[in-house]
Amino acid sequence: MSERVVIIGAGVAGLACARMLQDHNRECVVVEASERPGGRVQTDVVDGYRLDHGFQVLQTGYPELTAFLDLDALRLRSFPSGVSVRYNNTFNTFADPRKYPVNIGSTIKAPFGTLIDTFRLLKLVRRVTSLAFEELFEEQEEPAIDYLQRLGFSERFINNFFLPFFAGACLERKLTASSRVLNYLIRVFAGGDAMLPELGMGEIPQQLVATLPPEIIRCNSRVVKIIGSTVTLESGEVLEASKIVVATDERSAAQLVKSTKMRKSIGETCLYFSTEWIPPHQNPFLILNGDEPGPINNLAFPSLISSRYAPAGRTLVAAIVLDAEIRKVMTSNAWYGTNAKTGTVMWLIPGSISGVIISNMHFLSKLRQRTVLIKIRNTLMITCRFVGNISVFLVCNGL
Ligand SMILES: Cc1cc2nc3c(=O)[nH]c(=O)nc-3n(C[C@H](O)[C@H](O)[C@H](O)COP(=O)(O)OP(=O)(O)OC[C@H]3O[C@@H](n4cnc5c(N)ncnc54)[C@H](O)[C@@H]3O)c2cc1C
Repeated sequence: MSERVVIIGAGVAGLACARMLQDHNRECVVVEASERPGGRVQTDVVDGYRLDHGFQVLQTGYPELTAFLDLDALRLRSFPSGVSVRYNNTFNTFADPRKYPVNIGSTIKAPFGTLIDTFRLLKLVRRVTSLAFEELFEEQEEPAIDYLQRLGFSERFINNFFLPFFAGACLERKLTASSRVLNYLIRVFAGGDAMLPELGMGEIPQQLVATLPPEIIRCNSRVVKIIGSTVTLESGEVLEASKIVVATDERSAAQLVKSTKMRKSIGETCLYFSTEWIPPHQNPFLILNGDEPGPINNLAFPSLISSRYAPAGRTLVAAIVLDAEIRKVMTSNAWYGTNAKTGTVMWLIPGSISGVIISNMHFLSKLRQRTVLIKIRNTLMITCRFVGNISVFLVCNGL
C-alpha cells in the first residue's frame, strides 16, 4: 500500500496540511481542481488594483497563524481597531478606547445602542478574551440570538451592530448560529487586529506554496470519487493513498464523502470600485450598515490600509452585498412583491449610504458570477444579474 497521503484541495487548509506533513517527513500530494492553489483566498490584479476575493481580512488573533505564516514577510497593514456603524444617516465610530481614546465619546454614546449595551459589550469582550479558544468551545451553546438576549443586549444594538457584524463574518443574518461561534469571532476580533498583506490576501496561500516542493501540488486535477484508499481524478487517473485528507469547500466535501449534512449560508457579492475621492473618515474603519437592511452590509477602503491596492491617486472601495437581503427586500410586499422575481426593476434606496460622496467611480470587477455595472457622479448605480432572468438596478441616491 502507498505511504503517500493524498490531500484533496489546495486552499489554505490543504496547503497547511501539506506543510505539516512535510515537516514530519511524510510523503504527500495535493490535488486541486482549479488552475491555481489558494481556494477562496485569492487576489486578482486588475489594471493595477488588487482585488481580494471576499472581501477578506487576516485576523492576527487566529491561534494557528504564526505556526504556518511568516507574518513579517507578508508586510501586514492594519485596519484601525473598531468599526464605524452607519446609523440614522451618520457614521458612528465604535472603537477600542485604549487605541482610539479620541473616539471614546462616540463609542460610549453609540446611537445604535444604549450605554448599558456598550458596557455589556466591554464585559463580554473582557470575558471571552480571558478564555482560551478551547474553553470557548467547551461552553454550553445556544443560538447566538438567544445568547445575546440572555446577556441583556437591547434589540436595537443586536439589530444594528451584531447583525451586520455577524452577517459579514458568517454569511448568516438571523444570528441562529452557535453562541460559541459568536464568542470565537469576538475573541478573534478583540484579541488581535484585522490586517491585509501589503500585496493582497493572495500572498497568504502563495507563501504557503513557496514552502512546499512544487511537484507535490497538482492543479487542474479534480477528484471525482473516493473509494476506500483510492482517489479517482476526472482524467480517470487513480491515486493510491495511505490516508486521504478532504480539504475542499463544504459542498464538494459533502459530495465526495456522500454526506447530506450541509449548513446553509446566504450568498455574498463583493463589488469593487475605484475613485479619486477619499472618504471623509479620520481613520479607515471597516464600515457596517446598521440601518435598515439595505444592499450594502459592509464597506471598506483597502487602498487606505495598503496603498499597493490601488494606483497612486485612486481609492479602492469594496462594498459587500448580501444577496439574500436584496432578494428579501425587493420581493417583500412593501416593495415589489413576488412580481420582482421576474423582469427588471428599478430600486431606489433612499439615503442608503448618503453622506458618502462617491464621484468619478469606475467599476472594476465582480467576484462571483454576477454582472455588475456602475454609473457615477454622486450617484452609485449597480446592476446585478442574478441566476435566472432578474436584473436589479440599485441606485443609491442622495449621495
Ligand atoms: C466571501 C468570503 C469572505 C470571507 N472572509 C474571510 C475573512 O475576512 N477572513 C477569514 O479568515 N476568512 C474569510 N473567509 C473564509 C476563508 O476564505 C475560508 O475559511 C478559507 O479560505 C477556507 O480554506 P479551505 O482551504 O478550507 O477551503 P477553500 O479555500 O474552499 O479551498 C478548497 C479547495 O478545494 C478545491 N476543490 C474543491 N473540490 C475539489 C475536488 N473535487 N477535487 C480537487 N479539489 C477540489 C477548490 O478548488 C479549492 O481550491 C471568507 C470566505 C468567503 C467566501
